[in-house]
Amino acid sequence: MSSGSRVVYSSGQGRVCPGCGFPANACRCKALAAARPAGPAGPVRVARQTQGRGGKGVTVITGLGLAAADLEKLARELKQRCGSGGRVAEGGVIEIQGEHRDTLVAELTRRGIAAKRAGG
Ligand SMILES: [Zn+2]
Repeated sequence: MSSGSRVVYSSGQGRVCPGCGFPANACRCKALAAARPAGPAGPVRVARQTQGRGGKGVTVITGLGLAAADLEKLARELKQRCGSGGRVAEGGVIEIQGEHRDTLVAELTRRGIAAKRAGG
């Protein structure tokens, strides 16, 4: 693979940064990254976890990157949506008791959060 063959050029302005689309000498990547401190830490994933005793599962939503108050609010609404218990766990994770991956992925998607079903 020849490096550089995919670099985007725009006539008259020289190289354009592939990260932000601004000219390389006016790259905005760092500024854009700094502008969203509470943005999603990663892709939002909805996974199933089995807790130790009894093997009763919980559905875990990771990567939301929301402020604590927003997490609490979202968790409350998702619990209602699933008719299940749940909580906000360490690391900004929402846990909902039982297997609700499909419901939660659909509900998050409806709210404009690109969530992906993960795990077996
Ligand atoms: Zn850039």
